[in-house]
Amino acid sequence: MKKLEMLYEGKAKKVYKTDDEKKYIVEYKDDATAFNGVKKGTIEDKGIVNNKMSAVLFKILEEKGVPTHFEELLSDRESLVKAVKILPIEVIVRNVAAGSLAKRLGVAEGTEMKTTVLEFCYKNDELGDPMINDYHIEAIELATKEQVEVVKKYAFKINEILKEYFLERGMKLIDFKLEFGVFDGKVILADEISPDTCRLWDVETNKKMDKDRFRRDLGDVEKTYQEVLERLEK
Ligand code: UDP
Repeated sequence: MKKLEMLYEGKAKKVYKTDDEKKYIVEYKDDATAFNGVKKGTIEDKGIVNNKMSAVLFKILEEKGVPTHFEELLSDRESLVKAVKILPIEVIVRNVAAGSLAKRLGVAEGTEMKTTVLEFCYKNDELGDPMINDYHIEAIELATKEQVEVVKKYAFKINEILKEYFLERGMKLIDFKLEFGVFDGKVILADEISPDTCRLWDVETNKKMDKDRFRRDLGDVEKTYQEVLERLEK
């Protein structure tokens, strides 16, 4: 597999074309941003953690019947993935109140949700990723009604699989963000699943084991990212 020209550089990853037009190579960076790019920094070896962790989780999800873009781990920072067209929607799943939900609804962080909460945001940096609903998605043609139904079905299934998986490794899955893409006409899971995109709290101590350590200057950022990966690889 030949790595060809860079197609796109995002905040945390670079995407390259390959000599197979149906495959891309994703390269994970150590760059970290928060608050829509206002806070910038680096988290040493974050790219390695996020690449390896995504690989582990995508494999498990595939085994359990969720199609993903993941093909194979190529190196510490690179993975081969299917060349999807990303739906411009961020899908957020919440089990416990935290972050923007806690603020927006005036619910204390750590409050258990009575039911799993699903949110959509329009993936658009200029607009600051505004929250949207099914109607907006259909109205401005971000995805079809059928695609939204598939996304919802997978999002809830992924939550059940990941909640159990993290719990077995001593972590509570508080919330997370997913992105989906279209490949050969089908909706599949894409992007990454990592401490950048999930909130994970230690079961015993409630220690935050995710990007909130960077966002909120809680210290031990690098060490905690490594610890999450170690728990997954055990
Ligand atoms: N999230 C993400 N990318 C975003 C926004 C949110 O990965 O652009 C994740 C975030 O890490 C958390 C969940 O989605 O696990 C919910 O985030 P929230 O809406 O609370 O926003 P935040 O507090 O991160 O601004």
